[in-house]
Amino acid sequence: MGIKVSDAVVIGGGPVGGMAAAELAKNGWDVVLLEEHPRIGHPNHCSGLMASVGIKRLGFPIPADAVRVPKIARAKFYSPKGVTFTVDRRQEAMKVYDRARLDQAVVEWAEYHGARVLTQHKAFKAYRRHREVYIEGKYSKNGIKTSFSFKTRLVISAEGSKVKIAPQLGLPRLNYHHEYPGLQYEIEQVKDVETDTVELFFGEKWAPGFFGWSIPTSEESLLVGIAKKPEYPLSTKYLLDRFIKKHPALKKRLKGSKIYLQRGGLVPGHGPIKKTYMDNIMVAGDSAGQTKATTGGGFNIGGYCGKLAGQVGAFGLKINDVSEKFLSLYEKQWKSLFGRELIMMAIARRMLRELPDHVIDRAFEAAKSAGVEIEMQKANDVDLHGSALIKMAFKPDLLWWGVTSLNHLTKNVLKNINFFLYATKYLF
Ligand SMILES: Cc1cc2nc3c(=O)[nH]c(=O)nc-3n(C[C@H](O)[C@H](O)[C@H](O)COP(=O)(O)OP(=O)(O)OC[C@H]3O[C@@H](n4cnc5c(N)ncnc54)[C@H](O)[C@@H]3O)c2cc1C
Repeated sequence: MGIKVSDAVVIGGGPVGGMAAAELAKNGWDVVLLEEHPRIGHPNHCSGLMASVGIKRLGFPIPADAVRVPKIARAKFYSPKGVTFTVDRRQEAMKVYDRARLDQAVVEWAEYHGARVLTQHKAFKAYRRHREVYIEGKYSKNGIKTSFSFKTRLVISAEGSKVKIAPQLGLPRLNYHHEYPGLQYEIEQVKDVETDTVELFFGEKWAPGFFGWSIPTSEESLLVGIAKKPEYPLSTKYLLDRFIKKHPALKKRLKGSKIYLQRGGLVPGHGPIKKTYMDNIMVAGDSAGQTKATTGGGFNIGGYCGKLAGQVGAFGLKINDVSEKFLSLYEKQWKSLFGRELIMMAIARRMLRELPDHVIDRAFEAAKSAGVEIEMQKANDVDLHGSALIKMAFKPDLLWWGVTSLNHLTKNVLKNINFFLYATKYLF
């Protein structure tokens, strides 16, 4: 097995790895992108719901055929006992994308700039030697596996939630207690689809610790899914089947419909890990917890962090400094843009995950009377809603809800005390 040499190696051909590789290649570096699967974008786990402002910020060309639903302007929230509130933004806030096509577009963007994309290449092992990193793995084709090895000065880990390589180089692991198993069906022949509205359903019975969702994909099809806290004993499949058959707001619309696709994965609810750089390496995207823990969305913010990692890496290579000290610039940059928001969302997720239904019902009522519907309509960037959520929690109705739910909230804080102490570093 000969050792190949490359200026940089990006592990993971998702949106985050694609963005990182594009930036490195744009700056003239020889960059290799390793993806374990044969086709970029597959298997696809994601719902494809992305905020328009956030995706534009990434700056790669979005192909017209990647858009499935061009305008999502309304989100309807259902409490466990059916109290609803609707955030109606009138103007377009989000779109539903064909996520596989989007991933391909990002990786094609990286290739266009000169990145070498190697599919069916799975990295297994990484180690440092003499200020360089060695990545070893297996290339598989037609059932035959061949070993490969790269020597490089810089690694960007964008391995997604099942991250294995970054911890081998000393970076923290994700705590899977805060990643939420999720499953969704694409369902056709659905009645009364509102093509500009997504729905979120809360309640222990439907989606314990997280929520269920319904996202339009056409005038007569929906993506319907749930995610649950990992320790909950019932399977995601059992919960999802019960959800689509029995939820009062869905069952009529889904009567006589047909499930034609199933996909699932770990919905990221972790929040940022403690350190995202070391000598020769940066980690970005789901692997780094750079996702909206409230909703599980990770394409836009993760993608932008991948871009920042690529830019910092490119500069580090140029000045021949990929030391921990220099690469800390990457963490400074992503934290200054998203750190506070991401940590607020992670706080909200940890507070919500253990609340009993009656407390969530009362939160909905309090949010309605506090005017949260109106408040949320004003947000410019729906990706960055962490601070707005925490600010709203100080409205009198919600404060009163907090006081009357103090026993539950305190329990959650105590259960996550280390996390809350860590979170304070982002806030002050
Ligand atoms: C059910 C579900 C619904 C979701 N819906 C949305 C949504 O609507 N909107 C949104 O913004 N986000 C959504 N997300 C989250 C979103 O999918 C992730 O945040 C996003 O994919 C993160 O991108 P990434 O590049 O970090 O990781 P990934 O997209 O997971 O990409 C990582 C890539 O690395 C590859 N890889 C991993 N290890 C190796 C290795 N050792 N060697 C080679 N290749 C490797 C993997 O095969 C994969 O292709 C959803 C997630 C789930 C599970």
